Amino acid sequence: TTRCEIISVGTELLLGQIVDTNATWLSEQLNNIGINVYYHQTVGDNHERLQAVFERAQSRSNVIVVTGGLGPTEDDLTREVAAELFDTTLEIDAASMAKIEHFYQEKNIEMTENNRKQALAFRGGEVLANPIGMAPGLTYHHEGTLWIFLPGVPKEMKQLTTDLVIPYLHKQQLSAGRLFYRTLYFQGIGESALETELLDLMQAQTNPTIALLAGDGYVTLRLAAKSVDETESHHLFDQIEQVISSRVGSFIVDQPKTIVERVVSQFKHHRLTLASCESLTGGLFSSTLISYEGVSSFYSGSLVTYNNEAKREIAGVDDTILERDGAVSEACAKAMATGAAQKMNADVAISFTGVAGPDNQGHIPAGTVYIGLFHKGQTTCYSYQFPGGRDDVRQAAVERGFKVLHH
Ligand code: ATP
Ligand code: MG
Repeated sequence: TTRCEIISVGTELLLGQIVDTNATWLSEQLNNIGINVYYHQTVGDNHERLQAVFERAQSRSNVIVVTGGLGPTEDDLTREVAAELFDTTLEIDAASMAKIEHFYQEKNIEMTENNRKQALAFRGGEVLANPIGMAPGLTYHHEGTLWIFLPGVPKEMKQLTTDLVIPYLHKQQLSAGRLFYRTLYFQGIGESALETELLDLMQAQTNPTIALLAGDGYVTLRLAAKSVDETESHHLFDQIEQVISSRVGSFIVDQPKTIVERVVSQFKHHRLTLASCESLTGGLFSSTLISYEGVSSFYSGSLVTYNNEAKREIAGVDDTILERDGAVSEACAKAMATGAAQKMNADVAISFTGVAGPDNQGHIPAGTVYIGLFHKGQTTCYSYQFPGGRDDVRQAAVERGFKVLHH
């Protein structure tokens, strides 16, 4: 079986200056084609420690992917250390060299000696030409282990992986098909009850595997099948789904809708029109709603009224309310909702006013939010105290807004 390991090279990773997104991304890609990733190692640009990490990987893994340290500078040591381990030499790859020379000619920049370094490849290895950058990917077979070296720059690493590495692994017959997923949704049965019903399957089943996840108001089962193509995966899924259905089929539901989708279908169904007026959310409610298609049939738009003047001029909030109660108040939220409904001639209008923070606004604590609701002449107001920073409060307000609209 394939035992894969990913090595991320770069002192920046150890200093905490950058996050190792390469290893995460590569792991996902490799697992998707059925290659088991057993280890991640991270190491700085240091000869001795690189050596130790490489030796350790060689001793336990048969596919090793290294990212970073292939650049032109002094601290880029990956090639040299690997060549020592492989007991081979580095030689200029003509095609890579031509590409680098061409690049410098084109840009009319003087090429320095260390730029040549990027064209160095292992004698006895292969070169995977970089479609978007200069440093190519390199491969080498050493004592039954396949080594793959990729540039550290995430964009280049990804492109090389997708275009060349994955096909290369397929060709080497190291991949064992891809992972396909099917999700089943359950309602009316709890996570633990479902687990009890399916425990024997979950424990015995290896392809597809079955994983239980709790969602918001429902439970999901994620089936993951390793197979050569989608048709084969469907076949595997259908078989296991039949067994699951025979036990707990009555709880299986269609994919649950998000709260926004539910609000959308509710407004369409009841043929009601909607408008909004936003202060602290600054259009976030509107933007969230508009990210779903086909809302123009019931939604007019949002008045974004951030300061008092806009609340007065655009939403028509009374001066007395702004002076007596202030902009962050129940009275103002109601007036904003009424204003939006009247200006846009809507059956229903929702408004948001509050203190996003991080600082309190006078005696009003950060996180205070009033949501006003206008519905056919009646106004209501809901008040909240949301935790977290500015973005959390604004996001929570919008989410709660959709809950207010959903009934
Ligand atoms: P270059 O030719 O640009 O020098 P290189 O192969 O030598 O490429 P590094 O110098 O190690 O790669 O990294 C180049 C840049 O790519 C880093 O500055 C960093 O921003 C990013 N990078 C490197 N490794 C990773 C990683 N594991 N995860 C995310 N980003 C990374
Ligand atoms: Mg570098």
